[in-house]
Amino acid sequence: MARLQPARSHARQTLSPAAGAARLELLEYFLIHHDDLQRSAQASLEWLHRHAAVKRSVCLLADRDSGTLLGVAGCGVPIADVEMFASSLSDEGNPLVGALASAGPVILKSGRRNGISTRATPPTPLGPGVFVAVPLRAVRESTEGAVGLLLMGPGPDTTADISWLSTVLGQKLDQIRGRGSLAEEVRKLRRERSLLFTIINSVTDPIMLTDTEGRLIVANSRAEKLFAAGEEESEGRRRAVELNNMLFSAALSRSAVEGPSEARELLLVDPSEGSDLLFEVLSSIVEDSREGTGIVSVLRNITDLRRATEQIEENYQRLRVLEAEARTERDRLNLIIDSVADPIIVTDPTGETVLMNAPAEVLFTVPATAADIAERNVQANDAHFSSFISGLLLGEGGPREIRRGELGLLNPSSSELIPVEAIAGKVQSESGELTAVVTILHDRREALERARLYEQLKLASDELQARVQAATAELATQNELLRRQAIELEQASRLKSQFLANMSHEFRTPLNAILGYTHMLLHGVAGDLTVPARRQLSRIDSNGRHLLTIINEILDITRIEAGKMPIQISEFDASEIVPEVMAELDPVITRSKLVVTPKLNPGAPAVHSDRQKVKQIVVNLLSNALKFTHQGGIDIAVLYDRPSGTISIAVSDTGIGIAPEHHERIFEDFRQVDDSPSRQYGGTGLGLAICRRLAAALGGRIALRSTLGQGSTFTLTIPVEATQ
Ligand code: ADP
Repeated sequence: MARLQPARSHARQTLSPAAGAARLELLEYFLIHHDDLQRSAQASLEWLHRHAAVKRSVCLLADRDSGTLLGVAGCGVPIADVEMFASSLSDEGNPLVGALASAGPVILKSGRRNGISTRATPPTPLGPGVFVAVPLRAVRESTEGAVGLLLMGPGPDTTADISWLSTVLGQKLDQIRGRGSLAEEVRKLRRERSLLFTIINSVTDPIMLTDTEGRLIVANSRAEKLFAAGEEESEGRRRAVELNNMLFSAALSRSAVEGPSEARELLLVDPSEGSDLLFEVLSSIVEDSREGTGIVSVLRNITDLRRATEQIEENYQRLRVLEAEARTERDRLNLIIDSVADPIIVTDPTGETVLMNAPAEVLFTVPATAADIAERNVQANDAHFSSFISGLLLGEGGPREIRRGELGLLNPSSSELIPVEAIAGKVQSESGELTAVVTILHDRREALERARLYEQLKLASDELQARVQAATAELATQNELLRRQAIELEQASRLKSQFLANMSHEFRTPLNAILGYTHMLLHGVAGDLTVPARRQLSRIDSNGRHLLTIINEILDITRIEAGKMPIQISEFDASEIVPEVMAELDPVITRSKLVVTPKLNPGAPAVHSDRQKVKQIVVNLLSNALKFTHQGGIDIAVLYDRPSGTISIAVSDTGIGIAPEHHERIFEDFRQVDDSPSRQYGGTGLGLAICRRLAAALGGRIALRSTLGQGSTFTLTIPVEATQ
């Protein structure tokens, strides 16, 4: 409950005037409020507080009419307790009633029964404990019953100030009482005031009555929290209250200038929390005959309202940003959806299409100029699509269910059947509510075509495989045939070699006899010969020798073929062979008139090989060179290659040369570059074939370098150490 407070300036509260001036001040107040019993009593108690250091005091009035001792004013005690206080005057045993009759102050104790007192003092607004009761009388030292009682908490002894005050207050109360039934008036006043305060305190907004300078006269409890602070309260709170008073005074003076009815905002400080509080102030001027001009202000707390407004504003801004983001997101989504070649359809929970990309539009919308058939096709497509997603829309399946299926859609304009694979998924809100169904359709024509081609390819491949198998089988048969033929051929070849060997042998014996007898005849064993007879015999000898060469070569070949050519390894110097060969062919060299130049290699190591066969090869190569060279010369060089461990004997001529296409062929049996019947050069075509076989038997080879018309170089290369 709020207290009725006297209008007082801050200066008056803190100022400590001289005792006389202080008393005068109180008396002045009594004069002003001459008929207000309660205010006079209240002012007196507060005066005591200020000037006599009486912190807690209560003023009681003895109402003889109602026979009751009533609480009138209180200082430093709960005001409700004062107003509630009532005690019967007829109770002679009540120490308070006794105190009324006493000549001076009495010390009492209330709240607890003790051994000294026969009768306990009833509880007073001062609370339990010892207190002083001073009778209030109009006339000091009078024996008449007192007008009332001044109760004070334990403190200083009764001072001059206290006794002065008890007298003036007694006189004042007596004076006012003389004007009528005081108690009735007090009760009425109290009721009215109580009602008034109940009303204004029930208002949650601070309400205040101030004087024109902003000093507080009446305030409800809400306003008191903001604008009033006792000295016992914290420094921080007092400062906040002081600041609020200043701010409020400034606002009032502004409203005096701008007009009081105008509502304006006022920022105050919450004294208990220190936070800012925003109020809307509504002031109106009231005129009172006693109090003069006052201003009633109602402060409406709009802190929350402002906060809410700001919050709404902020939310609105945020909403706008989100909206913009959502728009951007949607644009981006549209861009993505449009850039996908497959048709995409977004459906809302009712099955309505909310979004589709261009490829989907081709299937599900009817162009303005389309024929009826196109419309029917689109309807058919719609029906297929709707039945496909209906399960999802009805909430079948789990929240993450993806539905797949195949649909047969129609191209609206051409009515061509388009088999598509449809994949649909749910879009759900955070609360699990279905917000959309997204479906992607994939044209399967290409895949089906690919599958068809693959099938064809597979068929073709199988066929090919079968053919390859058949061909392989055929090849195997042919191979087998060939193998048999090769065996037969080998047998035939062996028989041929055998036959040739036999025949050669059979030819050689009589031929040697013929040559022997011819030789003897030519040497005149049978007497002198005529010139024509000698010429004929020489021809027989020459042809016989030629035949012998042929027979020998055939025999060599057949021997080699039959593997009957034994290898005789010995150590020899390759360079020795060259002069021996030249000596053997000396008659031919002389006849040819060619210069044969040996290029020996004395540093070359000795060779382990078949000396006879090496020599036979070189003889053959040199005789060929002599045969096919008409001018220039022949070189026979011996070369040693250390890295490969080989010795080479190279026979180079400046003869007719061999065309490249014959380079390989001339090594075959019986093969000559010119094998026409009218050929210019004699020979069997077996020489090089034998040479190659012999070289191979020694682990070596014969190489040819030749240019037609310029000459040839045949090189025999054998390892220094022959492998048998
Ligand atoms: P032939 O007994 O016919 O000489 P060869 O086997 O020794 O048999 O030679 C085969 C053929 O190679 C010869 O007929 C000849 O055409 C060719 N030929 C061999 N040596 C030479 C050479 N030095 N210059 C040119 N042609 C050659």
